[in-house]
Amino acid sequence: MKLSGAKAVITGGGSGLGLATARAFARAGAKVALMDVDESTGVSAAANIGAFFCCVDVSDEESVTEGVKSISDFLGGISTCVNCAGIAAASAILGRKRSQAFRLFEKTVAINLSGTYNVIRAVVPVMAENQPNRDGERGVIVNTASIAAFEGQPGQAAYAASKSGIAGMSVPLARELASRGIRVNAIAPGIFDTPMLHGLPSPDLKERLAADVVFPNRLGNPDEFASLAKFLVQCAYMNGETVRIDAGLRMPKSVSV
Ligand code: NAD
Repeated sequence: MKLSGAKAVITGGGSGLGLATARAFARAGAKVALMDVDESTGVSAAANIGAFFCCVDVSDEESVTEGVKSISDFLGGISTCVNCAGIAAASAILGRKRSQAFRLFEKTVAINLSGTYNVIRAVVPVMAENQPNRDGERGVIVNTASIAAFEGQPGQAAYAASKSGIAGMSVPLARELASRGIRVNAIAPGIFDTPMLHGLPSPDLKERLAADVVFPNRLGNPDEFASLAKFLVQCAYMNGETVRIDAGLRMPKSVSV
């Protein structure tokens, strides 16, 4: 599907990977709308790239229904959806804050996994109304998993479970939505330099995380994620896949913080 003229909604578009994707899509000629729960960063991000902003909590059914309606009204439909909204909470099941572990598990799954599904269930009926292009496409969905889906580290049970759920959705949703001409893929990033890493417990942890990256031996640049998101939208033969972008990184069994 061409990005020029696409009507794209990017969740988590106020920051990091979502913002880089929104900027890249806008530069490629797409009409872009950002959905984010953080109104202050979302409004200024949208103004910077000439996008529409809608304050939405992806884990809330009503909020997403209303957000998708106003975005669809503003853009005149939706043809592309990139789901980047997410949180990276870590909590040890045997840690000192054990009583919080289950609540954090539920919250992480509610935002990362159920939130992704919630947005998809709201955008799909809008995409299904589009006229198909020459390849029969009416829409493209790109979700954001993580390499933690495959090799999560201690404390990441909730995050890894939420991300492997996203990877697991690619095939069944691609199969289910094929009859409507809608493709579904996911990206599994390694470690990217975004505001999500600002909450790391130790200042030199970024460097220690980067040490295991094979080549190039550095953290990922959000623009590199955006270029893969662009490819997954543009290449009609990509469907039902979860694509790693990690410069060869395989997460070790632990990183001491
Ligand atoms: P980020 O913190 O910079 O951006 C995440 C955005 O999601 C923020 O703008 C935040 O406000 C928004 N968000 C959070 N909860 C939300 C909610 N309930 N409703 C709507 N918006 C919400 O982080 P990022 O690094 O850009 O992460 C983007 C995605 O990529 C996340 O799903 C993350 O898990 C995934 N990811 C990131 C990395 C990395 O190394 N940065 C690695 C693997 C996967």
